[in-house]
Amino acid sequence: MPVLPYYSTNRIAPSVTLKDALLTGQAPDKGLYLPDTIPVIPGEEIQSYARLSYFEVAYAVLRRFAGSEMPDDVLLDLCRESYDYEVPLEMVYDDNYIMRLDRGPTASFKDFAARIMARLMRHFLRQDKSKLVILTATSGDTGSAVAHAFHNIDRISMVVLFPRAEVSDRQRRQMTTLGGNVSVIGVNGKFDDCQVMVKRAFTDPDLKDIRFSSANSINIGRLLPQAVYYFYAYSRLANNREPAVFSIPSGNFGDMMGGLIAGRMGLPVRRFVIATNANDEFPKYLATGRYDKVVPSRVCISNAMNVGHPSNLVRVIDLYGGQMDEQGRIEKPPDRDRMRKDMYAISIGDDETRQTIKDAYERFKILLEPHGAVAWSGLMSFRHEQGSSGSAVSIETAHPAKFPDEIVRILGIKPEAPPSLSGLEKKAEEFQSIENEYEQFKKILKDKYGP
Ligand SMILES: *Cc1c(COP(=O)(O)O)cnc(C)c1O
Repeated sequence: MPVLPYYSTNRIAPSVTLKDALLTGQAPDKGLYLPDTIPVIPGEEIQSYARLSYFEVAYAVLRRFAGSEMPDDVLLDLCRESYDYEVPLEMVYDDNYIMRLDRGPTASFKDFAARIMARLMRHFLRQDKSKLVILTATSGDTGSAVAHAFHNIDRISMVVLFPRAEVSDRQRRQMTTLGGNVSVIGVNGKFDDCQVMVKRAFTDPDLKDIRFSSANSINIGRLLPQAVYYFYAYSRLANNREPAVFSIPSGNFGDMMGGLIAGRMGLPVRRFVIATNANDEFPKYLATGRYDKVVPSRVCISNAMNVGHPSNLVRVIDLYGGQMDEQGRIEKPPDRDRMRKDMYAISIGDDETRQTIKDAYERFKILLEPHGAVAWSGLMSFRHEQGSSGSAVSIETAHPAKFPDEIVRILGIKPEAPPSLSGLEKKAEEFQSIENEYEQFKKILKDKYGP
C-alpha cells in the first residue's frame, strides 16, 4: 500500500504523511488535515465484519488510512491494546438501537479515539527515537480521557492544566490519581486562562527546545478512529442488508465527521441525524444557508456539547466541496443540497432532553444520560417525520453515572457507577497549584522537560 497524503483544509500548507499530521495536530496554515482520498471498502468485506471483534474491525478500517506508514502487525497490536472493553449495542424497540460507547477507562466515548491516538504517536516517536510533551487545558471530560490515554505511554509526557474552581471533584480525581508521566496543574483562574497559557507555551521561544504537541479534537488521530464504531454497529444489526440511520449527539463534530467518513468509505447509511443541544448553529445553517456562530455558547445539561462554533465544521464543509476558514467564514459554499440528503439536523433543548430521559426509561427501561438523550430525541423526531423503515442506531457517548444528580432528579434512581468511576475517593491525589500567571507555568515546564 502506498503512503496516503493528508492535506490542509486551508490548502496553503503542503500535504504531509499521517505521521506528521498526527504529531503536529493543526496544519501550519491553521487548517485541519484530511486524507487526500477516502479509501473505499468493498461491500462483501463490510458484511464480513459481523464475524470480527471490535479491535479487528478497527484494524480493518484503520489500515486503509495508515497505508505503508505502519506495519500491519504493529497496527493490529495497537488496536488490540486500545480496545479491550465492551461495545454494547442494545435493541430498544423494533429496529431501533442504542450503541453505548461508555465502557472505556473514563466512561466517555472520547476513550475510543484518545487511546489509539496515544499509541500511534508512540509508534512514530519510537521510530525517530524522539520524545514529546502533550499540553492540554481542560474544563473536565476531555482532560481525563486524554490523560488516561497517555498514562504510561513511553516517550510521551502529559501536562494537564485545569481551572481549580470549575472542575468537579470526580473530574479532578480522574486526572490527579494517575501519576507517572501525567502532571496535573490546577490554576487559580478560568478555563480560558488555562487555554491562553497553553497556547503561549506552544510559541514561547524560551521553550523551543521542548517538543510540544496537543491532543485536542482537531488532531486527525482523534478523528479516524471514530469512523470505526459505525462499521461495528452496522455489522451487529439483525437487519444489515439495508442502509441504516445513525443518530449522533454533536458538539465539536468529531463524532459526526467519523460517521461521514464511514459513509464515504462505503458503509450503507440512509441518513445521519445530527442532534445538537440548544447550540443550534448547524441545524440553522443546514436549513437556511446562513452560518452564525453562537457566541457565547449556550449552557445546557449535555455540557460536552456546549459548542457555538464546532471546530470540525471546516472539515464537514470541505467534505462537501466548500471552504470555511478558522473564523467560521464560508469562503466557498459547499453542496448544501447534498448535505441535506445525507443529514437531518435538529436542535434539542434541555426540557426535551429531560423529558426524553424520562420517557425512554418509562417506556423501554433504557437509561440515558443527557448527551445520549439528545441523540435519541433527534432520532424519534426523524422517525416521526420520515417513517420507520430500516434499522437505526442512536449513539450514547457517556455513562449515566457521570450525571448522578440530573438522573436522580428526573427518575428518582441513582445510576450505578462502573468500575472505572468507583473507588476514586480512596486513591491518592497529586497535583501542583499555581496562580493565573504564565511565568509560574513556564518555570514548571522548563525545570521538568527542558534540556
Ligand atoms: C465530546 C462529547 C460529545 C460531542 O462529541 P463531538 O465529537 O465533539 O461532537 C458528546 N458527548 C460526550 C459525552 C462528549 O464527551
